[in-house]
Amino acid sequence: MLSDYHLHLRSDDHDATAAQCFTPENAERYRTAADSRGIAELGVSEHVYRFEQALDIWRHPFWVSYARDDLDAYCSFVREQTDLRLGIEADFVAGAEDRIANLLDARDFDYAIGSVHFIRDGAVDMDDYSVWDSGRSVEQIWRRYFETIGEAARSGLFDVLAHPDLVKMWGAERPRPEGDLRRFYELAIPGIAESGIAVELSTAGLRKRVHELYPAPAFLQMCVQAGAPVALSSDAHRPEDVGADYDQALALLESLGVGELCAFERRERRLEPVGAGERAR
Ligand SMILES: [Zn+2]
Ligand SMILES: [Zn+2]
Repeated sequence: MLSDYHLHLRSDDHDATAAQCFTPENAERYRTAADSRGIAELGVSEHVYRFEQALDIWRHPFWVSYARDDLDAYCSFVREQTDLRLGIEADFVAGAEDRIANLLDARDFDYAIGSVHFIRDGAVDMDDYSVWDSGRSVEQIWRRYFETIGEAARSGLFDVLAHPDLVKMWGAERPRPEGDLRRFYELAIPGIAESGIAVELSTAGLRKRVHELYPAPAFLQMCVQAGAPVALSSDAHRPEDVGADYDQALALLESLGVGELCAFERRERRLEPVGAGERAR
């Protein structure tokens, strides 16, 4: 089995509408791309901040500017008009755990992907609201990032931990700590180990300035040694990126002795042997 659970049908274009993106035709474009790469398990995980209901969780100005879609209409669309698994990419917002749980538990998602894009109000991966302009040192930002990843895991809110070292996204365009980075990864490991959360292996980083898989091999190795199963995804925002660069991801899994991938249904997890195959429709 190969999976791609971290997909966005919603265009990055701020002015694109839900009506333009959430169509059976658009979903089928992703499905066709997956078929051509032997990826049978496909799910959509739209960003929570695209939905009006997210403003019950957090009112960061970035979220306020994007929260226009209706979450229940999205869920109905995926269930009734596509054959994709129904997921969501939800930010971990410290202090809002109950409100996140309320939003997730009220819908019949197949899985919830938890991500950390912000450290307090500062964005890790955007120029707007950038944490890199906050005056904090690179050591402080990286420490806080991996502590928050551990908190997100430990919260128990999510099935999968997204792009677990997103903080490196900018590559050489932002400061990067010196030396062995495992001192940062270690901060996240207890939460990952205790929660049993799956860790995402994402090829999206290869398409960003850093040109690396998320997470780094050393971090993934630590997660696997802590007992975490792996969920494989591309984080595609357009059909052509579905399953992109999976050869590199699969080579890393093989080098670490990982022979199974997570599959999800109604928030139940099972493990399937890695391998390309036909979908069962
Ligand atoms: Zn993300
Ligand atoms: Zn994403």
